[in-house]
Amino acid sequence: MVDYLDPSAIENEMESVDDPISSNETDSQTHLLSGVHDEENINESEQMLKQSSEMIAREGLRERMTARRRSRLECDSAEGEEILLDPKEFPPLPEASDPSIFEEMRADGEAALAAGMEFLSETSEKAQRIIQRVITDVWKQTHFHHLPEWLKDNDFLHFGHRPQIQSFRECFKSIFRIHTETVNIWTHMIGCIAFVAVATYFLAAENFAWTEKWMFSAFFAGAVLCLGFSFLFHTVYCHSQSVGKFFSKLDYCGIALLTLGSFVPWLHFGFYCRSVAKHIYIGVISVLAITAIVVSLWDKFSEPAYRALRAGVFVALGLSGVIPAIHYVSSEGWVRSVHEGSMIYLVLMGVLYVSGAVLYACRVPERWFPGRFDIWFQSHQIFHVLVVIAAFVHYHGISLMANHRFTLGACPQISDTASWFVS
Ligand SMILES: [Zn+2]
Repeated sequence: MVDYLDPSAIENEMESVDDPISSNETDSQTHLLSGVHDEENINESEQMLKQSSEMIAREGLRERMTARRRSRLECDSAEGEEILLDPKEFPPLPEASDPSIFEEMRADGEAALAAGMEFLSETSEKAQRIIQRVITDVWKQTHFHHLPEWLKDNDFLHFGHRPQIQSFRECFKSIFRIHTETVNIWTHMIGCIAFVAVATYFLAAENFAWTEKWMFSAFFAGAVLCLGFSFLFHTVYCHSQSVGKFFSKLDYCGIALLTLGSFVPWLHFGFYCRSVAKHIYIGVISVLAITAIVVSLWDKFSEPAYRALRAGVFVALGLSGVIPAIHYVSSEGWVRSVHEGSMIYLVLMGVLYVSGAVLYACRVPERWFPGRFDIWFQSHQIFHVLVVIAAFVHYHGISLMANHRFTLGACPQISDTASWFVS
């Protein structure tokens, strides 16, 4: 026999239960059992079930949070010690039924996320700075193809280039490492120091008058500035494009100053008693040197495409000395020019400078054997060595001219027109 449920009996029994949730649930069940499928009642029942499960979830969350805090403390405390939560550090959690708990938790979560993001951002920046510093400090020789465009100068030198080194300290430390610029740096650094020493010795000596010392000083200043600027340029030009451009301009200005400084004492002693000619020649070479300096301040002048123009400007500046040299030889004769005018040394100096400039412009020998002269004996190094040798040859020549001049005594009294041709 089937025992059918009596809907009204169940309803009465459920009404006696105090618990509102149970009561509501029972109501819902009753409605269902009684076959009342009213949509309003179903929605109401669903709402009640939702509230109940939300309360259970809140309670569960509260318990989990408390348990997590306790376990965290347990990790830090001695075994068996009673765990007491500090109410200041762990204020009592709000009642689970308090709807603001989720708002607070969300706000806390967002604040923690923001703080975390800020920390990550700062850490990332610090890490980037450290990585950049490590790269700068422990730079490795680089292949030409891996250089930034502005550092690409001579594609016949394949390996051994310095990368960009954004630290002057590291650039100067690179003087003591082997790379494509090592010899360029050392040749002109040693040359510069040598000329500082020679200049100091010469200017401290007592066997020359102050006028002669000033004339020699023009040459020493030109040599020291040229070699010093060149040394600085080759040391730091890999720092950055702007630094490279600035020092390349100084380097070119130095070449013009050395050329000018070389002419001044030679013209002074060569045309010692022909003041008009002497001053005209010194004036002309000064204007040409200033023009070369102005041209070398042009931004594009240092670009690889203008290599031949650079060599041309400085060779032309140097060859402008041919005119006073021809004047000197035509008035003194070849024998006296060699004997008294150090013409051999002047010609030798010109040959050394022009040879260096031609090698520099043509990039020989690395042009013939690309990649074979990356570190040693590349054209720029030969050019540097020839510049230093030429400067010392010239110093020897003008020293001989100065010594010889003192053996001749005072200048004869002649008119200005005659003095143009007669010594
Ligand atoms: Zn150089």
